[in-house]
Amino acid sequence: MKRLCLVLFAACAAPVYEAKPPAWVADTSTFGSGSGSSAVAATATLADRYRPVAQKILAATRGDRGAYDKLAQLTDTIGHRLAGEPSLDKAIAWAAETMKNDGLDSHTEKVMVPHWQRGAEDADIVGPITRPMHIIGLGGTVATPKGGITAPIVVVHDFKELEAKGDAVKGAIVVYNAAMPKWTEEHGSGYGEAVAYRFGGASAAAKHGAVAVLVRSVTAHSLRTPHTGAMGYADDAPKIPAAAVTVEDAELLDRLAQRGSTTVHLRVDDQVLPDVESANVIGELRGREKPDEIVVIGGHIDSWDVGQGAHDDGAGCVTMMQALALIKKLGLAPRRTIRVVLFTNEENGLRGGKGYAQQHASEMSKTVLAVESDSGGFSPVGFDTGAKDPEAAKHLRAHVTDIATLLRAIGVRKVGDGHGGSDIGPMEPLGVPQVGLDVDNRTYFDIHHTEADTLDKVDPAQLADDVAAVAVLAYIAADAPERLDQ
Ligand SMILES: [Zn+2]
Repeated sequence: MKRLCLVLFAACAAPVYEAKPPAWVADTSTFGSGSGSSAVAATATLADRYRPVAQKILAATRGDRGAYDKLAQLTDTIGHRLAGEPSLDKAIAWAAETMKNDGLDSHTEKVMVPHWQRGAEDADIVGPITRPMHIIGLGGTVATPKGGITAPIVVVHDFKELEAKGDAVKGAIVVYNAAMPKWTEEHGSGYGEAVAYRFGGASAAAKHGAVAVLVRSVTAHSLRTPHTGAMGYADDAPKIPAAAVTVEDAELLDRLAQRGSTTVHLRVDDQVLPDVESANVIGELRGREKPDEIVVIGGHIDSWDVGQGAHDDGAGCVTMMQALALIKKLGLAPRRTIRVVLFTNEENGLRGGKGYAQQHASEMSKTVLAVESDSGGFSPVGFDTGAKDPEAAKHLRAHVTDIATLLRAIGVRKVGDGHGGSDIGPMEPLGVPQVGLDVDNRTYFDIHHTEADTLDKVDPAQLADDVAAVAVLAYIAADAPERLDQ
Protein backbone atom coordinates (compact mmCIF):
# COMPACT_ATOMS: atom_id res chain seq x y z
CA MET A 1 0.00 0.00 0.00
CA LYS A 2 0.91 2.94 -0.26
CA ARG A 3 0.50 3.78 2.94
CA LEU A 4 -2.91 3.25 1.39
CA CYS A 5 -2.35 -0.18 -0.02
CA LEU A 6 -2.00 -2.17 3.14
CA VAL A 7 -4.61 -3.65 5.33
CA LEU A 8 -3.73 -1.51 8.29
CA PHE A 9 -4.68 1.65 6.53
CA ALA A 10 -7.47 3.52 8.23
CA ALA A 11 -9.25 5.97 5.99
CA CYS A 12 -9.54 9.27 7.70
CA ALA A 13 -11.29 12.48 7.01
CA ALA A 14 -8.65 14.30 8.99
CA PRO A 15 -8.80 17.96 9.80
CA VAL A 16 -6.81 19.96 7.31
CA TYR A 17 -4.81 23.04 8.13
CA GLU A 18 -3.92 25.79 5.75
CA ALA A 19 -0.23 26.03 5.10
CA LYS A 20 0.30 29.32 6.93
CA PRO A 21 3.12 29.75 9.40
CA PRO A 22 1.67 29.49 12.89
CA ALA A 23 2.75 32.30 15.17
CA TRP A 24 3.93 30.08 17.98
CA VAL A 25 6.74 28.47 16.00
CA ALA A 26 8.42 31.87 15.77
CA ASP A 27 10.23 31.37 19.04
CA THR A 28 13.26 29.50 17.73
CA SER A 29 16.51 31.25 18.31
CA THR A 30 19.24 29.38 16.46
CA PHE A 31 19.87 28.91 12.79
CA GLY A 32 20.86 25.91 10.76
CA SER A 33 24.27 26.77 9.43
CA GLY A 34 23.34 25.06 6.21
CA SER A 35 20.35 27.29 5.74
CA GLY A 36 22.26 30.23 4.38
CA SER A 37 19.90 32.57 6.16
CA SER A 38 21.98 34.02 8.93
CA ALA A 39 20.69 37.50 8.22
CA VAL A 40 17.17 36.52 9.18
CA ALA A 41 15.90 37.75 12.53
CA ALA A 42 16.10 35.47 15.54
CA THR A 43 12.32 35.16 15.71
CA ALA A 44 12.11 33.80 12.18
CA THR A 45 10.13 30.64 11.53
CA LEU A 46 11.64 27.55 9.97
CA ALA A 47 10.17 28.63 6.65
CA ASP A 48 11.81 32.04 6.92
CA ARG A 49 15.15 30.55 7.84
CA TYR A 50 15.14 27.86 5.19
CA ARG A 51 13.55 29.72 2.30
CA PRO A 52 16.84 30.15 0.37
CA VAL A 53 17.71 26.47 0.60
CA ALA A 54 14.16 25.45 -0.30
CA GLN A 55 14.34 27.65 -3.39
CA LYS A 56 17.62 26.04 -4.32
CA ILE A 57 16.04 22.58 -4.04
CA LEU A 58 12.96 23.61 -6.01
CA ALA A 59 15.12 25.05 -8.77
CA ALA A 60 17.16 21.88 -8.96
CA THR A 61 14.15 19.58 -9.18
CA ARG A 62 12.30 21.55 -11.84
CA GLY A 63 12.57 19.52 -15.02
CA ASP A 64 14.81 16.97 -13.32
CA ARG A 65 14.19 13.47 -14.64
CA GLY A 66 16.46 11.73 -12.17
CA ALA A 67 13.65 10.07 -10.23
CA TYR A 68 11.79 9.11 -13.39
CA ASP A 69 14.90 7.59 -14.96
CA LYS A 70 15.45 5.54 -11.82
CA LEU A 71 11.83 4.43 -11.90
CA ALA A 72 12.18 3.42 -15.55
CA GLN A 73 15.15 1.24 -14.67
CA LEU A 74 13.30 -0.36 -11.79
CA THR A 75 10.04 -0.98 -13.63
CA ASP A 76 11.14 -1.70 -17.19
CA THR A 77 14.31 -3.60 -16.43
CA ILE A 78 13.29 -5.43 -13.27
CA GLY A 79 9.49 -5.26 -13.29
CA HIS A 80 7.13 -6.28 -10.53
CA ARG A 81 8.68 -7.69 -7.38
CA LEU A 82 6.65 -9.67 -4.89
CA ALA A 83 8.32 -11.10 -1.77
CA GLY A 84 9.92 -14.39 -2.78
CA GLU A 85 10.32 -13.44 -6.46
CA PRO A 86 13.90 -13.24 -7.77
CA SER A 87 12.97 -9.83 -9.18
CA LEU A 88 12.70 -8.43 -5.64
CA ASP A 89 16.27 -9.54 -4.94
CA LYS A 90 17.34 -7.82 -8.15
CA ALA A 91 15.50 -4.63 -7.17
CA ILE A 92 17.17 -4.61 -3.76
CA ALA A 93 20.62 -5.02 -5.30
CA TRP A 94 19.84 -2.35 -7.90
CA ALA A 95 18.68 0.15 -5.27
CA ALA A 96 21.76 -0.36 -3.09
CA GLU A 97 24.05 0.02 -6.11
CA THR A 98 22.19 3.08 -7.43
CA MET A 99 22.40 4.89 -4.10
CA LYS A 100 26.11 4.06 -3.90
CA ASN A 101 26.57 5.53 -7.38
CA ASP A 102 24.80 8.67 -6.13
CA GLY A 103 27.49 9.04 -3.49
CA LEU A 104 25.47 7.74 -0.55
CA ASP A 105 26.53 5.10 1.96
CA SER A 106 24.36 2.08 1.23
CA HIS A 107 23.86 -1.42 2.51
CA THR A 108 21.13 -4.02 2.95
CA GLU A 109 19.70 -5.51 6.14
CA LYS A 110 18.34 -9.05 6.17
CA VAL A 111 14.63 -9.64 6.77
CA MET A 112 12.76 -12.94 6.42
CA VAL A 113 9.60 -12.61 4.34
CA PRO A 114 6.60 -14.75 3.44
CA HIS A 115 6.65 -16.56 0.12
CA TRP A 116 3.25 -16.85 -1.45
CA GLN A 117 3.17 -17.85 -5.08
CA ARG A 118 0.46 -17.37 -7.65
CA GLY A 119 -0.43 -20.35 -9.81
CA ALA A 120 -3.11 -20.88 -12.44
CA GLU A 121 -6.29 -19.00 -11.62
CA ASP A 122 -9.60 -18.91 -13.46
CA ALA A 123 -13.30 -18.62 -12.84
CA ASP A 124 -16.35 -19.13 -15.00
CA ILE A 125 -20.03 -18.67 -14.56
CA VAL A 126 -21.41 -22.14 -15.35
CA GLY A 127 -25.11 -21.56 -14.73
CA PRO A 128 -27.58 -20.24 -15.77
CA ILE A 129 -25.21 -18.89 -18.45
CA THR A 130 -21.64 -19.91 -19.26
CA ARG A 131 -19.09 -17.12 -19.30
CA PRO A 132 -15.47 -16.69 -18.25
CA MET A 133 -14.68 -14.00 -15.68
CA HIS A 134 -11.54 -11.97 -15.02
CA ILE A 135 -10.24 -12.80 -11.57
CA ILE A 136 -7.05 -12.54 -9.56
CA GLY A 137 -6.22 -14.45 -6.40
CA LEU A 138 -5.83 -12.35 -3.27
CA GLY A 139 -2.36 -12.37 -1.79
CA GLY A 140 -2.07 -15.15 0.75
CA THR A 141 -5.03 -17.17 -0.43
CA VAL A 142 -5.00 -20.94 -0.14
CA ALA A 143 -5.66 -23.04 -3.22
CA THR A 144 -8.92 -24.62 -4.26
CA PRO A 145 -8.96 -28.44 -4.28
CA LYS A 146 -7.39 -29.85 -7.47
CA GLY A 147 -9.70 -29.20 -10.39
CA GLY A 148 -11.37 -26.30 -8.59
CA ILE A 149 -14.68 -25.75 -6.86
CA THR A 150 -18.11 -25.60 -8.46
CA ALA A 151 -20.74 -24.09 -6.17
CA PRO A 152 -23.77 -21.82 -6.10
CA ILE A 153 -23.07 -18.19 -5.24
CA VAL A 154 -24.57 -16.02 -2.52
CA VAL A 155 -24.13 -12.28 -3.09
CA VAL A 156 -23.83 -9.93 -0.12
CA HIS A 157 -23.16 -6.20 -0.02
CA ASP A 158 -21.74 -5.90 3.47
CA PHE A 159 -20.89 -7.92 6.56
CA LYS A 160 -24.31 -7.25 8.09
CA GLU A 161 -25.99 -8.95 5.17
CA LEU A 162 -23.60 -11.89 5.49
CA GLU A 163 -24.54 -12.28 9.16
CA ALA A 164 -28.23 -12.07 8.28
CA LYS A 165 -27.85 -14.86 5.71
CA GLY A 166 -26.00 -16.98 8.27
CA ASP A 167 -26.12 -20.65 7.37
CA ALA A 168 -27.65 -19.90 3.98
CA VAL A 169 -24.07 -19.46 2.70
CA LYS A 170 -23.09 -22.99 3.72
CA GLY A 171 -21.49 -24.76 0.73
CA ALA A 172 -21.67 -21.59 -1.35
CA ILE A 173 -19.17 -19.19 -2.87
CA VAL A 174 -19.85 -15.85 -1.21
CA VAL A 175 -19.58 -12.85 -3.53
CA TYR A 176 -18.90 -9.55 -1.77
CA ASN A 177 -20.31 -6.85 -4.01
CA ALA A 178 -19.36 -3.87 -1.85
CA ALA A 179 -18.68 -0.79 -3.96
CA MET A 180 -15.78 1.48 -3.14
CA PRO A 181 -17.09 5.06 -2.84
CA LYS A 182 -15.91 7.55 -5.41
CA TRP A 183 -13.19 10.03 -4.45
CA THR A 184 -14.37 13.29 -2.93
CA GLU A 185 -12.49 16.32 -1.66
CA GLU A 186 -13.83 15.80 1.88
CA HIS A 187 -13.17 12.08 2.23
CA GLY A 188 -10.49 11.34 -0.33
CA SER A 189 -10.59 7.76 -1.57
CA GLY A 190 -12.99 5.24 -0.13
CA TYR A 191 -10.27 2.61 -0.06
CA GLY A 192 -10.23 2.19 3.69
CA GLU A 193 -13.93 1.35 3.74
CA ALA A 194 -13.94 -1.12 0.86
CA VAL A 195 -10.73 -2.96 1.70
CA ALA A 196 -12.25 -4.63 4.77
CA TYR A 197 -14.01 -7.18 2.53
CA ARG A 198 -10.83 -7.99 0.67
CA PHE A 199 -8.87 -8.49 3.86
CA GLY A 200 -11.35 -10.17 6.16
CA GLY A 201 -14.08 -11.44 3.84
CA ALA A 202 -12.84 -15.01 3.52
CA SER A 203 -12.82 -15.83 7.23
CA ALA A 204 -16.12 -14.05 7.87
CA ALA A 205 -17.79 -16.21 5.20
CA ALA A 206 -15.93 -19.39 6.20
CA LYS A 207 -17.38 -19.13 9.71
CA HIS A 208 -20.79 -19.68 8.13
CA GLY A 209 -19.63 -22.59 5.99
CA ALA A 210 -18.83 -20.84 2.70
CA VAL A 211 -16.37 -22.74 0.48
CA ALA A 212 -14.73 -19.75 -1.24
CA VAL A 213 -15.17 -16.00 -1.67
CA LEU A 214 -15.07 -13.67 -4.64
CA VAL A 215 -14.53 -10.04 -3.68
CA ARG A 216 -15.41 -7.07 -5.85
CA SER A 217 -12.16 -5.33 -6.76
CA VAL A 218 -11.31 -2.40 -4.53
CA THR A 219 -11.63 0.44 -7.00
CA ALA A 220 -14.17 3.11 -7.85
CA HIS A 221 -13.44 2.99 -11.59
CA SER A 222 -13.02 -0.19 -13.54
CA LEU A 223 -12.09 -1.17 -17.07
CA ARG A 224 -12.60 -4.83 -16.26
CA THR A 225 -9.28 -5.12 -14.51
CA PRO A 226 -9.20 -7.22 -11.33
CA HIS A 227 -7.27 -5.78 -8.35
CA THR A 228 -5.30 -8.03 -6.04
CA GLY A 229 -4.15 -7.17 -2.51
CA ALA A 230 -3.48 -8.67 0.87
CA MET A 231 -5.96 -10.85 2.72
CA GLY A 232 -5.67 -12.59 6.05
CA TYR A 233 -7.17 -15.59 7.77
CA ALA A 234 -8.61 -15.58 11.27
CA ASP A 235 -7.41 -18.37 13.56
CA ASP A 236 -10.94 -19.51 14.36
CA ALA A 237 -12.23 -20.16 10.84
CA PRO A 238 -11.42 -22.66 8.08
CA LYS A 239 -9.11 -21.26 5.39
CA ILE A 240 -11.03 -20.93 2.14
CA PRO A 241 -9.81 -19.61 -1.25
CA ALA A 242 -10.29 -15.90 -1.99
CA ALA A 243 -10.06 -14.06 -5.29
CA ALA A 244 -11.01 -10.64 -6.61
CA VAL A 245 -13.45 -10.27 -9.47
CA THR A 246 -13.79 -7.16 -11.62
CA VAL A 247 -16.44 -4.60 -10.75
CA GLU A 248 -18.18 -5.55 -13.98
CA ASP A 249 -18.28 -9.26 -13.12
CA ALA A 250 -19.38 -8.55 -9.53
CA GLU A 251 -22.30 -6.56 -10.91
CA LEU A 252 -23.13 -9.31 -13.41
CA LEU A 253 -23.09 -11.97 -10.69
CA ASP A 254 -25.30 -9.76 -8.53
CA ARG A 255 -27.87 -9.34 -11.31
CA LEU A 256 -27.87 -13.03 -12.14
CA ALA A 257 -28.27 -14.03 -8.50
CA GLN A 258 -31.24 -11.71 -8.11
CA ARG A 259 -32.93 -13.59 -10.94
CA GLY A 260 -32.20 -17.06 -9.70
CA SER A 261 -29.68 -19.73 -8.79
CA THR A 262 -26.23 -18.96 -10.20
CA THR A 263 -23.27 -21.32 -10.19
CA VAL A 264 -19.58 -20.54 -10.52
CA HIS A 265 -16.50 -22.69 -11.09
CA LEU A 266 -13.37 -21.34 -9.40
CA ARG A 267 -9.81 -22.60 -9.64
CA VAL A 268 -6.96 -21.06 -7.67
CA ASP A 269 -3.67 -22.96 -7.68
CA ASP A 270 -1.77 -20.54 -5.47
CA GLN A 271 0.52 -21.79 -2.73
CA VAL A 272 2.09 -20.72 0.51
CA LEU A 273 5.77 -21.72 0.65
CA PRO A 274 8.30 -21.44 3.48
CA ASP A 275 9.63 -17.96 4.34
CA VAL A 276 12.62 -16.72 2.35
CA GLU A 277 15.37 -14.21 2.95
CA SER A 278 14.93 -10.64 1.73
CA ALA A 279 16.27 -7.27 2.86
CA ASN A 280 15.59 -3.63 3.57
CA VAL A 281 17.82 -1.29 1.59
CA ILE A 282 19.50 1.58 3.41
CA GLY A 283 21.17 4.62 1.87
CA GLU A 284 22.36 7.52 3.95
CA LEU A 285 24.06 10.84 4.20
CA ARG A 286 25.74 11.17 7.58
CA GLY A 287 24.92 14.25 9.60
CA ARG A 288 27.70 16.83 9.97
CA GLU A 289 27.04 17.53 13.64
CA LYS A 290 24.66 14.93 15.07
CA PRO A 291 25.18 11.83 12.93
CA ASP A 292 23.43 9.62 15.47
CA GLU A 293 20.20 11.60 15.08
CA ILE A 294 18.27 10.41 12.05
CA VAL A 295 15.57 11.45 9.64
CA VAL A 296 14.18 8.35 7.91
CA ILE A 297 12.64 8.77 4.46
CA GLY A 298 11.17 5.64 2.92
CA GLY A 299 8.94 3.70 0.60
CA HIS A 300 8.54 0.00 -0.13
CA ILE A 301 10.67 -1.79 -2.68
CA ASP A 302 8.34 -4.79 -3.09
CA SER A 303 5.16 -4.74 -5.16
CA TRP A 304 2.39 -7.09 -6.15
CA ASP A 305 3.18 -9.63 -8.85
CA VAL A 306 1.24 -7.79 -11.54
CA GLY A 307 1.94 -4.68 -13.60
CA GLN A 308 5.26 -2.99 -12.81
CA GLY A 309 4.69 -1.64 -9.30
CA ALA A 310 5.30 1.81 -10.81
CA HIS A 311 3.07 3.99 -8.65
CA ASP A 312 2.93 1.38 -5.86
CA ASP A 313 5.53 1.92 -4.68
CA GLY A 314 8.35 2.27 -7.16
CA ALA A 315 7.51 5.96 -7.25
CA GLY A 316 7.87 6.31 -3.48
CA CYS A 317 11.25 4.55 -3.54
CA VAL A 318 12.77 6.66 -6.31
CA THR A 319 11.36 9.83 -4.73
CA MET A 320 13.34 9.13 -1.58
CA MET A 321 16.45 7.98 -3.45
CA GLN A 322 16.45 11.07 -5.63
CA ALA A 323 15.67 13.46 -2.77
CA LEU A 324 18.75 12.36 -0.87
CA ALA A 325 20.91 12.17 -4.00
CA LEU A 326 19.91 15.74 -4.76
CA ILE A 327 20.68 17.00 -1.24
CA LYS A 328 24.10 15.44 -1.59
CA LYS A 329 24.61 16.81 -5.10
CA LEU A 330 23.71 20.33 -4.00
CA GLY A 331 26.42 20.14 -1.37
CA LEU A 332 23.95 20.49 1.47
CA ALA A 333 25.35 18.98 4.64
CA PRO A 334 22.57 18.65 7.20
CA ARG A 335 23.23 18.61 10.92
CA ARG A 336 21.64 15.16 11.31
CA THR A 337 21.76 12.00 9.23
CA ILE A 338 19.17 11.50 6.49
CA ARG A 339 18.54 7.82 5.84
CA VAL A 340 16.61 6.36 2.93
CA VAL A 341 14.97 3.09 3.93
CA LEU A 342 13.41 1.01 1.18
CA PHE A 343 11.30 -1.48 3.07
CA THR A 344 10.74 -4.99 1.81
CA ASN A 345 7.46 -6.94 1.89
CA GLU A 346 5.03 -4.16 2.68
CA GLU A 347 2.35 -5.67 0.51
CA ASN A 348 1.88 -9.07 2.05
CA GLY A 349 3.51 -9.02 5.44
CA LEU A 350 4.97 -5.66 6.47
CA ARG A 351 8.04 -7.61 7.57
CA GLY A 352 10.37 -4.87 6.34
CA GLY A 353 8.71 -2.14 8.39
CA LYS A 354 8.42 -4.31 11.48
CA GLY A 355 11.97 -5.62 11.04
CA TYR A 356 13.46 -2.15 10.70
CA ALA A 357 11.76 -0.91 13.89
CA GLN A 358 13.04 -3.99 15.77
CA GLN A 359 16.56 -3.98 14.38
CA HIS A 360 16.93 -0.26 15.02
CA ALA A 361 15.08 -0.13 18.35
CA SER A 362 18.06 1.45 20.08
CA GLU A 363 17.96 4.36 17.61
CA MET A 364 14.29 5.18 17.95
CA SER A 365 14.70 7.92 20.57
CA LYS A 366 17.11 9.64 18.18
CA THR A 367 15.04 9.11 15.06
CA VAL A 368 13.64 12.61 14.89
CA LEU A 369 11.25 12.00 11.99
CA ALA A 370 10.08 9.29 9.61
CA VAL A 371 8.61 10.25 6.22
CA GLU A 372 6.91 7.85 3.81
CA SER A 373 5.59 8.12 0.27
CA ASP A 374 3.21 5.31 -0.69
CA SER A 375 0.20 6.88 -2.40
CA GLY A 376 1.62 6.95 -5.89
CA GLY A 377 3.94 9.35 -7.66
CA PHE A 378 1.32 12.01 -8.37
CA SER A 379 1.58 15.76 -7.70
CA PRO A 380 2.24 16.51 -4.04
CA VAL A 381 -0.65 18.27 -2.31
CA GLY A 382 0.35 18.15 1.35
CA PHE A 383 1.49 16.11 4.30
CA ASP A 384 -0.27 13.88 6.83
CA THR A 385 1.32 14.12 10.25
CA GLY A 386 1.07 12.12 13.45
CA ALA A 387 2.86 11.20 16.65
CA LYS A 388 2.15 8.96 19.62
CA ASP A 389 2.24 11.85 22.07
CA PRO A 390 -0.52 14.41 21.42
CA GLU A 391 1.72 17.33 22.35
CA ALA A 392 4.42 16.10 19.94
CA ALA A 393 1.76 15.65 17.25
CA LYS A 394 0.65 19.27 17.72
CA HIS A 395 4.19 20.62 17.42
CA LEU A 396 4.92 18.41 14.42
CA ARG A 397 1.81 19.53 12.60
CA ALA A 398 2.59 23.20 13.24
CA HIS A 399 6.19 22.90 12.05
CA VAL A 400 5.23 20.92 8.96
CA THR A 401 2.48 23.44 8.22
CA ASP A 402 5.13 26.15 8.38
CA ILE A 403 7.53 24.21 6.11
CA ALA A 404 4.70 23.50 3.66
CA THR A 405 4.47 27.23 2.90
CA LEU A 406 7.79 26.84 1.09
CA LEU A 407 6.18 24.35 -1.30
CA ARG A 408 3.16 26.31 -2.43
CA ALA A 409 4.65 26.82 -5.89
CA ILE A 410 4.41 23.07 -6.52
CA GLY A 411 0.87 22.75 -5.16
CA VAL A 412 1.45 21.72 -1.56
CA ARG A 413 -1.40 23.31 0.33
CA LYS A 414 -2.68 21.11 3.12
CA VAL A 415 -1.29 19.59 6.27
CA GLY A 416 -3.50 17.45 8.45
CA ASP A 417 -3.54 14.78 11.10
CA GLY A 418 -3.33 11.43 9.40
CA HIS A 419 -1.58 8.22 8.57
CA GLY A 420 2.16 8.54 7.93
CA GLY A 421 2.62 5.19 6.24
CA SER A 422 2.46 1.44 6.73
CA ASP A 423 6.21 0.88 6.80
CA ILE A 424 7.05 3.67 9.23
CA GLY A 425 3.99 2.80 11.33
CA PRO A 426 5.85 0.30 13.58
CA MET A 427 8.12 3.17 14.69
CA GLU A 428 5.22 5.31 15.88
CA PRO A 429 4.56 3.49 19.18
CA LEU A 430 8.30 3.83 19.80
CA GLY A 431 7.96 7.61 19.70
CA VAL A 432 9.05 8.41 16.16
CA PRO A 433 7.01 11.25 14.63
CA GLN A 434 5.42 10.37 11.30
CA VAL A 435 4.79 12.24 8.08
CA GLY A 436 3.14 10.82 4.97
CA LEU A 437 3.49 12.57 1.63
CA ASP A 438 -0.02 13.38 0.47
CA VAL A 439 -0.47 13.39 -3.30
CA ASP A 440 -3.29 13.98 -5.75
CA ASN A 441 -4.27 10.32 -5.74
CA ARG A 442 -7.67 10.61 -7.42
CA THR A 443 -6.68 8.08 -10.07
CA TYR A 444 -4.40 5.91 -7.92
CA PHE A 445 -6.97 3.27 -7.08
CA ASP A 446 -7.97 2.89 -10.72
CA ILE A 447 -4.69 1.04 -11.29
CA HIS A 448 -3.57 0.07 -7.78
CA HIS A 449 -2.53 -3.61 -7.48
CA THR A 450 -3.34 -4.34 -11.13
CA GLU A 451 -1.64 -5.12 -14.42
CA ALA A 452 -2.16 -1.44 -15.24
CA ASP A 453 0.24 -0.06 -12.61
CA THR A 454 2.90 0.69 -15.21
CA LEU A 455 5.43 3.44 -15.86
CA ASP A 456 3.35 5.22 -18.51
CA LYS A 457 0.93 6.25 -15.73
CA VAL A 458 3.68 8.27 -14.03
CA ASP A 459 4.35 11.88 -15.01
CA PRO A 460 8.04 12.83 -14.71
CA ALA A 461 7.25 16.43 -13.70
CA GLN A 462 4.86 15.33 -10.94
CA LEU A 463 7.44 12.88 -9.66
CA ALA A 464 10.07 15.65 -9.63
CA ASP A 465 7.71 17.75 -7.48
CA ASP A 466 7.45 14.86 -5.01
CA VAL A 467 11.23 14.82 -4.84
CA ALA A 468 11.22 18.55 -4.09
CA ALA A 469 8.60 18.22 -1.35
CA VAL A 470 10.45 15.40 0.39
CA ALA A 471 13.90 16.97 -0.03
CA VAL A 472 12.78 20.27 1.50
CA LEU A 473 11.01 18.63 4.43
CA ALA A 474 13.76 16.09 5.10
CA TYR A 475 16.54 18.62 4.84
CA ILE A 476 14.89 21.05 7.26
CA ALA A 477 14.01 18.26 9.70
CA ALA A 478 17.62 17.10 9.58
CA ASP A 479 19.23 20.51 9.77
CA ALA A 480 17.08 22.61 12.12
CA PRO A 481 18.51 22.78 15.65
CA GLU A 482 15.12 21.93 17.10
CA ARG A 483 13.16 18.72 16.49
CA LEU A 484 9.95 19.21 14.55
CA ASP A 485 7.96 17.47 17.27
CA GLN A 486 9.19 19.80 20.00
ZN1 LIG B 1 2.23 0.43 -1.55
